[in-house]
Amino acid sequence: MSDLMDVKKTDTDRREFLKTACRILALAVGAVGFSRLVDIEGGEQVWQIDPKKCIQCGRCATECVLNPSAVKCVRAFDVCGYCKLCGGYHRINASRLDTAAENQICPTGAIVRTYIEDPFYEYKIIEELCNGCGKCVKGCTAFGNGSLYLQIRHHLCAGCNECRIAVRCPANAISLVSMKNAHFSLTESY
Ligand code: SF4
Ligand code: SF4
Ligand code: SF4
Repeated sequence: MSDLMDVKKTDTDRREFLKTACRILALAVGAVGFSRLVDIEGGEQVWQIDPKKCIQCGRCATECVLNPSAVKCVRAFDVCGYCKLCGGYHRINASRLDTAAENQICPTGAIVRTYIEDPFYEYKIIEELCNGCGKCVKGCTAFGNGSLYLQIRHHLCAGCNECRIAVRCPANAISLVSMKNAHFSLTESY
């Protein structure tokens, strides 16, 4: 009986310890996640990708502390050619230029293709489905107008003091910029 009580007490102690550890971890994550980065004048700073430097290596999808990543594909409407053969939508070896999953580049079905009039089609990104893999960006850059690019979405980003992707980016494409200098004209156009 005494052994049984000892086991129960040990289990209770272990549960209490785990609860406390979880509380401390949650507080630590919250403190990091919701702190805002500020520059020397007190203005807010944000992490930003330079699309001209990005080589779509794939790390934006896997290295962000958030899952899914705070990096998303965005689209500049005024640059898009509304192409029927879209390098950002169809796989290189697509058997048909249709919307069948096997003919699409995007692994998550995050790009919606809508017929406008022959031979033009509109492409929209569903941000919630995008994981920031950059496959569509690579295709559009290689075979299209380059209207797709990756960007850190500020309303999703936790604003880490040191962006984990920036540390691992092989192209040095991510930097801190003042909020007032952020490329809103680019990020608003998707
Ligand atoms: S890690 Fe750098 S090069 Fe790779 S996809 Fe992200 S921004 Fe582009
Ligand atoms: S291919 Fe990758 S980056 Fe492009 S929309 Fe799909 S998930 Fe996002
Ligand atoms: S700052 Fe943090 S949350 Fe934002 S993109 Fe970088 S790793 Fe992801």
